[in-house]
Amino acid sequence: MPTRDVLTKADLAELRRSALGTADPLGVAADVAEAAEQGRLADPDDAGDALTLAAEIAEIRARPEAALRYAEQALAAYPSGDDPRAGFARALRARALFRAGGRDDEAMAELTALRPLLLGQPDAPAYVSAALDAGGRSATAETWLSEAVDTLLGERANAADKPAQAITAVDPVAELGPPDAPGVLFLLLQQRHRVRRNLNLPHDRQDDLADRLEAQLVRRAGERRDAGTDLLFWPRAELDRLLAEHPALTEVYGPDWDAHRGRLEKELVRLREAGQAGLGVFRASVDGLHAVAGRRDGDPTDAAVRAGYAAEVQARPSARIPWPPERNDACWCGSGLKYKKDCLPRSR
Ligand SMILES: [Zn+2]
Repeated sequence: MPTRDVLTKADLAELRRSALGTADPLGVAADVAEAAEQGRLADPDDAGDALTLAAEIAEIRARPEAALRYAEQALAAYPSGDDPRAGFARALRARALFRAGGRDDEAMAELTALRPLLLGQPDAPAYVSAALDAGGRSATAETWLSEAVDTLLGERANAADKPAQAITAVDPVAELGPPDAPGVLFLLLQQRHRVRRNLNLPHDRQDDLADRLEAQLVRRAGERRDAGTDLLFWPRAELDRLLAEHPALTEVYGPDWDAHRGRLEKELVRLREAGQAGLGVFRASVDGLHAVAGRRDGDPTDAAVRAGYAAEVQARPSARIPWPPERNDACWCGSGLKYKKDCLPRSR
């Protein structure tokens, strides 16, 4: 990273986007933390966010001591531990405590304190459940997410003066909120669905609701696009990196690789049923997206930047993977499984 005297908000956004792809992410984390400690931020109010970024990099790179130190400095830098921006730093602190070994009780105390945020803060379902997963507490995540969903559905039923059983009558359209800002209930259901799938739990009523909301989101995304859809396909390692660096894109590409492939398969089936021929997906990469963002001086999470990247990829014949394969042929996603055993059933 080039040494800068003062880091602006734009510098921090750029580092958030590029740090993990650099040769020395931990060096970037140390530089950002140093800038915050030495008061070299254009806006002093960014100190907590800068140190949180350093903690996130260290945590992803499996350096729990550094992650813990940065997360604690971040918490000290926010005006108070109740600052809404501090939640992610506290979850990172918990992850680092789990990883450090022998400090599970402290990690759980931190996460228990964050639990009420599940009911109102859009990012909380993702960062709280990721921290519990990291500590081998996915079953606890499932319980917490389920209870938060029950609470929100109960409040909704009360407000509508309906019996609590009316939960499945929740209107998916009303619930999703504006297309680019899905409601907390949807985000909770999505994480709950992910955690339950990883725990091999059976599909229940709330999973059905999650599926209905998801289908609604996919349909809306289809309506927002004119002629073509972006149909970007992120191979597993690329998706993991994309979501680690840009958690907001969970809403666009799905919370994990299974959900991502399921969305694409459903969208392709929808397009075929609408009469489109010559369908395919386009292999995407995080570096490619970042390159477009860099050229446009925009953020990778921005819809216009992603649309620009998609247009570039779609123009590249080598990126195209035709769809559908024959039932007994290798699946389009590259898993190595037969199509009929892998992505074909995901459209159902
Ligand atoms: Zn597949």
